[in-house]
Amino acid sequence: MSETWFDASKCLINGAWVAPEGGETLPLENPSDGSELAQIARGRRADVDKAVVAAQGALDGAWGAMTALERGRVLMRMSVAVLEKVDHLAALEAADVGKPLKQARADAVALARYLEFYGGACDKIHGQTIPYLDGYTVYTLREPHGVTGHIVPWNYPMQIIGRSVGAALAMGNAAVLKPAEEACLTALAFGAIAVEAGLPAGALNIVPGLGAEAGAALSAHTGVQHISFTGSVSTGELIQAAAARNVIPVTLELGGKSPQVVFDDADLDAALPFLVNAGIQNAGQTCSASSRILVQRGVYDKLSGMMAARYKELVVGQAMDDLDIGPLISARQKDIVEGFVNAAPAARILAQARLAEGLPQGGHYFAPTLYGGIDPDDPLAQAEIFGPVQAIIPFDDEADALRIANGTAYGLVASVWTANGARQMRMAKKLRAGQVFINNYGAGGGVELPFGGVGKSGHGREKGFEALYGFSVLKTVAAHHG
Ligand code: NAD
Repeated sequence: MSETWFDASKCLINGAWVAPEGGETLPLENPSDGSELAQIARGRRADVDKAVVAAQGALDGAWGAMTALERGRVLMRMSVAVLEKVDHLAALEAADVGKPLKQARADAVALARYLEFYGGACDKIHGQTIPYLDGYTVYTLREPHGVTGHIVPWNYPMQIIGRSVGAALAMGNAAVLKPAEEACLTALAFGAIAVEAGLPAGALNIVPGLGAEAGAALSAHTGVQHISFTGSVSTGELIQAAAARNVIPVTLELGGKSPQVVFDDADLDAALPFLVNAGIQNAGQTCSASSRILVQRGVYDKLSGMMAARYKELVVGQAMDDLDIGPLISARQKDIVEGFVNAAPAARILAQARLAEGLPQGGHYFAPTLYGGIDPDDPLAQAEIFGPVQAIIPFDDEADALRIANGTAYGLVASVWTANGARQMRMAKKLRAGQVFINNYGAGGGVELPFGGVGKSGHGREKGFEALYGFSVLKTVAAHHG
């Protein structure tokens, strides 16, 4: 894939496309057919060093000198530029991640929306005045951390860059972004858009490469003052340990095993699309995927049948054919997902989706699989599979539902489906999750809504206004004037 507006084999450092110091590249695969899409830069420590120096230079120069209003206007211009290229970005993302074109397009629109939201917020962040001793005036200032590191995964590059880099820039930080080695074309395209829209050189730097090389170098860098990481629990532990050595704050957005809890009195027709889509969207490779469906016994048979019927209508195909579901990201991911399915009892399979005819041999296709009658302790109900596999788990009453829903190591998103208002409130309070939806499910959506986890799902909040607090430091000024 040849692009004229950015160079996939280079890093973006100080506003220019620069070959990695080591001169090496890595192949980028199209998961729909296994073909090579591009060669991307294999950035290492030396490239990260240059990116951090460039970011610090931006803070000391034009970017750091901008007013909040000016920063906001730059982000707004970037938002408009993303929308102008929305079809192009969608095509890149579909080819790179394997997601159906309409989902890739929705991600590009979400990136623009993040930039719009945070661009508009720049000049609306206020400190406080605090009553103190006689003769004092005390106030607080929200200041940027400085250089922020952003390590993102391959599943939703545009959305995660929007919420993380967008909020960091809004607060006046200068960013160094390490996209995932499996999918990074839209990250690079975003860099080109930012430069074109007038983001000062060095405010955003991008160093592609391997996690253990460029990622580890960025998370351990002494010139970085905050790390935002989205990815797996095991990598999150390494990032937090590296940040601890430099005593800097981290935001960890990790995995999940998010439940939807359906009571006997729920509107099943309204629930059905949310129950299924939240499990199969992006081929289940979504941190907030709803992989557990808890169903009260009175509607268990009926709802299981409805979900199974929907699964049988779903078709998996190439991203560009824009069907319901695309391939998994890689052969490795397919092995992981198939490992869970091969270890699970085949008799518990309620339904599987269908693969389209004539799919390319090199694509990583997997038929979404729905299980019923799963025990809460079963691996299907405990482990984050990160593929389109959902487990239906029966429950007796509210207490039983809460025990099962809260019975994993994770706590990212949960939903409750019931017409009983008092139960809605009780469940929302007691569900262990960073976000709870009542009679809906917002997997990943909602630019305005603070998002993040508890337990192994991570800590810190991105999205919404809350993210701006995370990407800033509060300074207290106490003036004694007598
Ligand atoms: P991963 O942790 O392997 O990779 C994520 C990023 O970290 C990549 O850019 C990778 O290069 C980098 N990385 C890998 N090893 C590193 C190291 N030692 N030091 C520094 N950086 C390193 O995760 P993945 O398999 O690519 O993504 C899937 C996981 O991400 C799932 O567990 C999923 O739930 C989670 N995820 C969470 C969210 C969220 O918002 N909570 C969103 C998307 C994905």
